[in-house]
Amino acid sequence: MERTTITLLGTTIDVLDVKGLGTKITQYIAAGVQTKIMYVNTDCMLIAKNDPGYQNVINNANLVYADGIGVVLGARLWGNTLPDRLTAADFMPELCRDFAKQGLRIYLLGAIEGVAEDAAKKLQKKIPNLLISGTHHGYFKQEQCADLIAEINATRPDIILVGFGAPQQEFWIHENSKNLDAKVVWGVGGLFDFLSGKTRRGPKLLLDNGFEWLCRLTTEPKRLWRRYLIGNTRFILYLLWNRFGGGRRNNHAG
Ligand code: UDP
Repeated sequence: MERTTITLLGTTIDVLDVKGLGTKITQYIAAGVQTKIMYVNTDCMLIAKNDPGYQNVINNANLVYADGIGVVLGARLWGNTLPDRLTAADFMPELCRDFAKQGLRIYLLGAIEGVAEDAAKKLQKKIPNLLISGTHHGYFKQEQCADLIAEINATRPDIILVGFGAPQQEFWIHENSKNLDAKVVWGVGGLFDFLSGKTRRGPKLLLDNGFEWLCRLTTEPKRLWRRYLIGNTRFILYLLWNRFGGGRRNNHAG
């Protein structure tokens, strides 16, 4: 399948807006090719910097979108334009409307016990004809994985949303998608926490202007201060070093 991508610090990212993302998913499903969808934000870019294995997993996905203003602005430093940051909590309900129209079955895997189930209920309240094939929490042991995969396959999902956070979900998808019968296996981070209402997202004005990280920081400061305060600073320095300093890396549109 043809892709329009850029490479930022060695990571391949699709040049897509929400509409393009929906269209691409429909095309992949129609083509009958199993599709691995992943996202990258500032945190993911820093993980990729230190872990080539993770970067390789991202670069092996069929579709990678920028979920974070840092990645969009970072690409701009090299003159590459990404249309926008794509945040699943914003676009997933609308996309689910399309999935419902197409009769596609969705499975929600991830988050603590009960959260994916609550997220499913909330989605179905908005979209009554949405087909949810099943839900499962994201805290299982490696030795339970084969049984879980059999259980998921038995529900015949077309699309599996995997919300374990980065980088666990990407490694899990990379290792296990071959055993999953679904057409789309998609890493969605903390999406179920937002859809269920477990985590609040913050005022729209801040979300729309690149400050989602600040809203998240204020809701979960203990867990996220290191990720956002230290992570964002390191990412900016890493970008500037690569753009203007001695660490130039391959960044291009492709
Ligand atoms: N999670 C999970 N299993 C784990 C670790 C985390 O299901 O072993 C879930 C966690 O409950 C949360 C999500 O993964 O719902 C991580 O969310 P986060 O916002 O940190 O994702 P990211 O920002 O990395 O995309």
